[in-house]
Amino acid sequence: MWDTRSRMTGGSAGILDGKAVSSLLRSQVAERVAVLRARGVVPRIEAVVAAQDPASLAYVRMKRAWAEKAGMESGSFEVTADTPQAVVVDRVRSLNADPGVHGVLVQHPLPGHLDEAAVLEALAVEKDVDGITVASLGRLTAGEQGFRAATPLGIVRLLDHYEVPLEGRHAVVVGRSNILGKPAALMLLERNCTVTVAHSRTRDLAGLLATADLVVAAVGRPELIRGEWLKPGAVVVDAGYNKVPGREKDVGDCHFESCAAVASWITPVPGGVGPMTVACLLANTVDAAEAAAMAG
Ligand code: NAP
Repeated sequence: MWDTRSRMTGGSAGILDGKAVSSLLRSQVAERVAVLRARGVVPRIEAVVAAQDPASLAYVRMKRAWAEKAGMESGSFEVTADTPQAVVVDRVRSLNADPGVHGVLVQHPLPGHLDEAAVLEALAVEKDVDGITVASLGRLTAGEQGFRAATPLGIVRLLDHYEVPLEGRHAVVVGRSNILGKPAALMLLERNCTVTVAHSRTRDLAGLLATADLVVAAVGRPELIRGEWLKPGAVVVDAGYNKVPGREKDVGDCHFESCAAVASWITPVPGGVGPMTVACLLANTVDAAEAAAMAG
């Protein structure tokens, strides 16, 4: 257990270690998979991914490897620049209908000729373990049960692990994408934060961040957020993952050194939000398999 209060005074930040916490989460997933397997149910996740996008292929390979390490099965459907929309939608519909498949991940971005929203629309809400279809986002908005988007879910679980208080805190989410910024804002609202969402048209981002107890960076701009902008003792969650030409390591949306000097807690990049996302995707898939086993 961590003493979060002593961290709220500023100084050198504690690390929100997504690698370590995701490893704990994945062992819990593996235990639940073993229980299901003993009952003859093998949780299975399937991905739909662009064949010509090396980053997407690498993400999916890693997600499948972690799933298989936890005792799950996995598969993927690689979409090329020639695959017609109808074939992709049919594939999603057949995954919906297959009782051996419990979760389906549509890895963003699909090739440009495809209507990604329509592909997601075809996915059954019971199998949307990434929590990004309109149906899942609607459930989140309405406060109904359903799969929560895996990246914001990972963020909230990481904060919970370190017992970072959320209720009544001012959270500023920078970014408003459907997969990250918007659901992160809604999930923090669900946890009784007072939430502000910033985006590319926000005036005076630095002034806004000076009022934030919790900053969630979901922008995709390397090192945009500087420590000088932060309130001393703020908690910083950096979901950004950016390649910078000439730099060996990928960097986040926050300038790590200057932010860590002011924050009470901070996520590293890599090793923060990324591994938590994958662990939550697997946990959601096991939830789906347990629900299917109960129903059938
Ligand atoms: P996205 O769809 O491109 O959205 C970026 C958001 O940032 C938009 O809402 C945009 O505002 C806002 N924005 C852009 N420039 C800004 C600025 N100067 N000031 C304030 N807001 C600004 O990106 P995304 O898919 O949400 O991803 C964001 C980052 O998270 C990327 O680095 C991505 O690689 C990373 N990511 C990580 C994970 C993970 O598992 N760790 C998962 C998903 C994404 P407008 O809406 O006004 O354009």
